[in-house]
Amino acid sequence: MLVLIGASLAMVNGNDMPTKPTSKKPLYNLNKKQSGQWSSNNDTFYHSTRWRILRKAVLKANPLCVHCNADGLITLAKIADHIQPVRLGGETWSIDNLQGLCESCHNIKTSKESKIYN
Ligand SMILES: [Zn+2]
Repeated sequence: MLVLIGASLAMVNGNDMPTKPTSKKPLYNLNKKQSGQWSSNNDTFYHSTRWRILRKAVLKANPLCVHCNADGLITLAKIADHIQPVRLGGETWSIDNLQGLCESCHNIKTSKESKIYN
């Protein structure tokens, strides 16, 4: 119940500073490494108005983390993730190529992708 209330609040507030999900916290230390990889080119894209609108739509349609949900966990999605990475040919602006993930699951997915494709 609390998670659902959190999801509503996050949407009202634009989801920029929602409360952190309580599960899988130890994985947050992956953030620093990966934020470095996401700088320069990606900054412009992820700060664009078009992306912000699309991201909001994705998280509104998918307020819960898809990966956590598959594991039976209820976690607030904070990141609109490209299911197939754009750099691997995934569609940038297609809502069909986007899913809601929590930070932990997004970090795990990004980490796996960089190990496979780099
Ligand atoms: Zn998750």
